[in-house]
Amino acid sequence: MNPTVIGVVGAGTMGRGIVQLFAQAGHVVRCHDAQPGAAAKAVQAVLDQLTKLVEKGRLSADALAAIRGRIHVSEDLASFADCDVVIEAIVEDLDAKRALFRALEAVVSPEAILASNTSSLTVADIAAACEQPARVAGLHFFNPVPLMKVAEVIAAVRTAPAVVETLRTLSEGAGHRAVVTADQPGFLINHAGRGLYTEGLRVVEEQVATPADVDDVLREALGFRMGPFELLDLTGLDVSSRVMSSIYEQFQQEPRFRPSSLVPPRVAAGLFGRKTGEGWYRYVEGRPERPPARERPAVPAGVSVWIDPAASGHGELATLLQAAGARLEGEPARADLGIVQPWGEDATSAAVRLGLDAARTVAVDPITPLALRRTLMLTIATAPAARDAALALLAADAVPVTVINDSPGFIAQRVIATIVNIAANIAQRGIASVADLEAAVQLGLGYPRGPLAWGDHLGAERILAILRAQHAATGDPRYRPSAWLVRRVALGLPLTTPEAAR
Ligand code: NAD
Repeated sequence: MNPTVIGVVGAGTMGRGIVQLFAQAGHVVRCHDAQPGAAAKAVQAVLDQLTKLVEKGRLSADALAAIRGRIHVSEDLASFADCDVVIEAIVEDLDAKRALFRALEAVVSPEAILASNTSSLTVADIAAACEQPARVAGLHFFNPVPLMKVAEVIAAVRTAPAVVETLRTLSEGAGHRAVVTADQPGFLINHAGRGLYTEGLRVVEEQVATPADVDDVLREALGFRMGPFELLDLTGLDVSSRVMSSIYEQFQQEPRFRPSSLVPPRVAAGLFGRKTGEGWYRYVEGRPERPPARERPAVPAGVSVWIDPAASGHGELATLLQAAGARLEGEPARADLGIVQPWGEDATSAAVRLGLDAARTVAVDPITPLALRRTLMLTIATAPAARDAALALLAADAVPVTVINDSPGFIAQRVIATIVNIAANIAQRGIASVADLEAAVQLGLGYPRGPLAWGDHLGAERILAILRAQHAATGDPRYRPSAWLVRRVALGLPLTTPEAAR
């Protein structure tokens, strides 16, 4: 089917965006809202938005006039009779959605497709209320719809393949990358996005680092647009907390998605984020207050450093420390400071394994490019003098340094390994194809790479080593590596390698 007439029910934030998207793509769009006057207001808002584009020269006046002629306000559902596809974007309430889908079935033709923009409900639950569940699917957009150029097409258990194909073509025709996903909790993008929050919170929960440290490292060293705590403050902890709990419960309490106990007391206290003026950060005139920068100690005269020769970044680190005034020492026992660069291992364990004096040992994260930001991890016994000497040397060229407590895996290693592992398991479970998963994460979450390609870029065997070390150190099943990752590392194949054809 080549849909020409699109119906949109619910003219709120999402409905408006969906109306704009399909009207701009050349479809006739009908818009209805239960609130009298709301659809007309929404259509006017869309036209105002498009008028601004005309003023900026990004849309022609003729195109706007044509779009105006294609958008119709419907005060009741009867005029939806000629719709080829109806997209529902009403309140997130199962009973309301079921009642609406039943009402729509009484109006539209037997061939018409009914799609829900639900974020958190199971599409099959909505479809179950319909006489023809095969024509029901999810079509999940992101806010703001015209700018977030990805749409999840959710194939519920009884959705007909032709319906999925039509919605995919329809979305791609409107300029969005359509990704097909199973009707599983969080669908594809919200599922893949869990790792950033769960592991970021775990790092803070374990007193390894502050929220600002976690955000800084992930933003500056790994290239995330925002760190998890900045994102939680933007979305609102009240909303995010419900999503975290709901996805965990819907996945039958899968430990990988276990929410942090740090969150409920903060929700109870009203620390929602930007909208209440305080969350993980305090906001003054809309801007987050940053913790004061740490004093940069002076480099001790004649300080000698031993660097673990097995460290992957050994050469680059040695050059940097020498430029800062350190003398390299070949024997750890004779050095003032010993530096290790472990993958997944905590600094204390690395010191014990190498027979080093923990009081004079620190660790530097090998995963983060030294030119961007450096993470300095202490053993539980690192002496203040050794800490200050390491900080002085690492900060001598004014590149920022984050100092953290001991942890199996530094901030960046832990978070990226968690994200790759969750993505690997999405692929293992066939929730989406590798190509759709990779594209969806970049477009929907704004990550600089697809998660599997990112794992390959950093080294899949290292990601596996981090997870195995964390799993061994904590005993927490959240760190158990996905079979997808284990098998591809065993054969030396890229993580983006799909399963063999059966
Ligand atoms: P909203 O509150 O901005 O708008 C909902 C609109 O639906 C309101 O105008 C309301 O009057 C109308 N409505 C409620 N019940 C109705 C009914 N029975 N019939 C017709 N109209 C009805 O909500 P929103 O943020 O646009 O979200 C809509 C849907 O999209 C929800 O399912 C939500 O989970 C989902 N969603 C939201 C976002 C987001 O960022 N806001 C992103 C993706 C998906």
